[in-house]
Amino acid sequence: MFKKILIANRGEIALRVIRACRELGIQTVAIHSEADAASLHVRLADESVCVGPADATLSYRNIPNILSAAEITGAEAIHPGYGFLAENSHFAEVCESAGIKFIGPFPECISLMGDKAKARETMMRKGVPVIPGSEGKVTNEKEAIEIAKKIGYPVIVKAVAGGGGRGMRVVHRQEDLAKSLQTAQMEAKTAFGDDGVYIEKYFIDPRHIEVQVLADEKGKVIYLGERDCSIQRRHQKLIEESPSPVVDDRLRRELGRAALDAVSASHYVNAGTVEFLLDKDHNFYFIEMNTRIQVEHPITEMVSGIDLVKEQIKIAAGRSLEFKQSQVKLRGHSFECRINAEDPEKFTPSPGTITSFHLPGGPGVRVDSAIYLNGVVTPYYDSLIAKLIVHAGTRDEAIAKMRGALSEFVVEGIKTTLPLHKRVFDDPAFIKGRFSTNFLERFLSSLSLPLQ
Ligand code: ADP
Repeated sequence: MFKKILIANRGEIALRVIRACRELGIQTVAIHSEADAASLHVRLADESVCVGPADATLSYRNIPNILSAAEITGAEAIHPGYGFLAENSHFAEVCESAGIKFIGPFPECISLMGDKAKARETMMRKGVPVIPGSEGKVTNEKEAIEIAKKIGYPVIVKAVAGGGGRGMRVVHRQEDLAKSLQTAQMEAKTAFGDDGVYIEKYFIDPRHIEVQVLADEKGKVIYLGERDCSIQRRHQKLIEESPSPVVDDRLRRELGRAALDAVSASHYVNAGTVEFLLDKDHNFYFIEMNTRIQVEHPITEMVSGIDLVKEQIKIAAGRSLEFKQSQVKLRGHSFECRINAEDPEKFTPSPGTITSFHLPGGPGVRVDSAIYLNGVVTPYYDSLIAKLIVHAGTRDEAIAKMRGALSEFVVEGIKTTLPLHKRVFDDPAFIKGRFSTNFLERFLSSLSLPLQ
C-alpha cells in the first residue's frame, strides 16, 4: 500500500480523500492555492504545499507545480478527485512517467472516453446501445442535415470534449441546424479547445440513469447498482438517488451488463461511471463514461456499504477487488442534495463569509462539506459547498429523513440552494418518483412564491 498520497483537489472531495487515506493508514499531502490557505483540506492533511495563485489554471491545474509538490513531499500517488485534472489524460501520463501512480484509469482510457464521439463508436462496436446519431464527428452542414433527417428532429449537437453540462445545443428544425452547428463548433473551440461536435437524437423527457463500476488491474469488474440523476438544472445534477424509482431488478441487471460491456470495451480500470438516458418505454442508451470518482458517489456508498474512495486507492495500489458481484447487496434508499453557494432561483454564484452555520445529524444523515463558521466561500471555484446525503430503509423514509435534515441545515451569510431542495422534497410528483430531466426547469417556472 502507498505510504503517502497527494490530493490534487480542494473542498469536500479533498476532505473525502483525506478521510479514506487516514482509514488506510496513508499520510496525506494537500495542495492549495493562495486563496485557499485557510481551507479545511489544508488543515486536515498531514502536509500541505501552496501551488499557485487563486486562478485554478495557475494552481489546481498547474501540472508542473503539482508534480513538484509530489516529488518534494515524497508522495507515491496522486488522487485527482473530480474536476480540475481528474480527466486530463496528459496529467495521468506525466504522473506515470514521473513514477507517481495516478489514482484512476490509464491515460489511453481517459482520452478515449474523453472524446465522446469516439466513446460512442467504441460502445457501438461492443453492442452497447447508444443514442441514435452520427458515427463519429460531424464536420459539415450537409452531413448534419442527412443525419438529422434520418434520426428525426429534435436533435442535439454536442461537443466531443464537452463536460459539466456545457457544449450542447438542441435543434428543433432543419432551418436552424446550420447555424447551431456553427455556433456549437465555435463554442466548443472556446470552452474546450476542440471544435469537434457530434449529433444525437434529442430525447424529450428522459431520465438520467448511471451505473457505478469498480474494475481492478487484474480484470475483475463489478457494478454497484444505479443512480438516478434526473433532477438537473441546465444539464447539471442537483439531486441524486439510488436506487432509481423506475428501475426494477431485471432492468438493473440489463444496465449492469451494459456497464460491464462498456468497461471491457474501454479496458477500464478503477472506479468509473457509465451514463445512460432511459426513455419512457424503459429503453436505455449510453451517453458517456466518466473516468473519475463522481460528486454523487456517496449515495452508492450508502446503499452498497462499499467505500468507493478506499477501493480506488486499493485498486491503484494493485490490490484485487475483495468481493464478487454476487456479494454486492444493495440495501435501502439514499438521496443526495447538492448545496451550492448560489441564488436558488437564478443559479448565480453567491460568494461570501459564512456567518452562521449548523449541520444536521442523526442516524442515516451524512454531510460531506469543507465549510465552517466564519469561513469564506470564494468566487474562484465550483459553487458546491456541501452534499447532504441520507440513507433509510425505503424511499418514503429517505424522503422524510431528507426533509428533517434540510430543516435543520443552517447556512447564513451567503445564498444557497437549500430553499429549492426543501420545495422539491415537498413536491407530489417528485415524492411519487415521477420526473424526467426536465422536471426542475418546469418546477422553477411554476413556482408561485419566491424561494427563501
Ligand atoms: P456532460 O458531459 O456535459 O455532463 P452528458 O452527455 O453527460 O454531458 O449529458 C448531460 C445531460 O444533458 C444529461 O443528463 C441529459 O439531461 C442531457 N442530455 C444529453 N444528451 C441528451 C439527449 N440526447 N437527449 C436529451 N437530453 C440529453
